[in-house]
Amino acid sequence: MQETILIIEDEPKVARLARDYLEKNNYRVLIAGDGQSGLAMARREKPDLLVLDLMLPVMDGLDVCRALRRESDVPIIMLTARAEETDRLIGLEIGADDYITKPFSPRELVARTRALLRRAKGRVYQSGIIRAGDLEMNTENHTLSLAGKAIHLTRIEFNILEILAEHPGQIFSRAQLLENLHGVAYVGYDRSIDAHVKNLRRKIEEDPANPKYILTVYAVGYKFREE
Ligand code: CA
Repeated sequence: MQETILIIEDEPKVARLARDYLEKNNYRVLIAGDGQSGLAMARREKPDLLVLDLMLPVMDGLDVCRALRRESDVPIIMLTARAEETDRLIGLEIGADDYITKPFSPRELVARTRALLRRAKGRVYQSGIIRAGDLEMNTENHTLSLAGKAIHLTRIEFNILEILAEHPGQIFSRAQLLENLHGVAYVGYDRSIDAHVKNLRRKIEEDPANPKYILTVYAVGYKFREE
């Protein structure tokens, strides 16, 4: 079945470029030129994925994202004009799944779209068992094995790994990981996540300095590898 992508972008050139590439890759594409009509279109058309520009007339991308997140889990890729860390962090924290910095390569957009849609179908997570490479994680009885050998993790390490591994490729900020662990992001405690990740890597990575499972996303946070 053909999947529908809604692009909410006020620059016609950018929207057309994205549309052409997505259509070439067999997606159905809709375009909205401002936040308000984009939100209305998302509600009406129920697209499979959204490409959402941050700076939009009438209603900006963050407000669109916030509004949509209250009512749906539709995957959202944010487009940010600047390489500003705060923009990316805010976008991810209010529920965007990924971001791309402009100017972007349309090929990268297609690749991210494909990865997000695959992930949204929940192909990796089944019946409490998460497998990736040599890792096998059982989230029911909280055990982990590496190439068949049991690995002991602390509760917090297990939870961090579980959050990341359940969503391969999805970027989590430190604050998001903390919030998942404690139900709230304690300001100033962000860096405690780094210590846990360091310990986790020592236990599961062949070469902790060159990790294959838990990857650092520069200036943002962490993600689990994609197959
Ligand atoms: Ca814009």
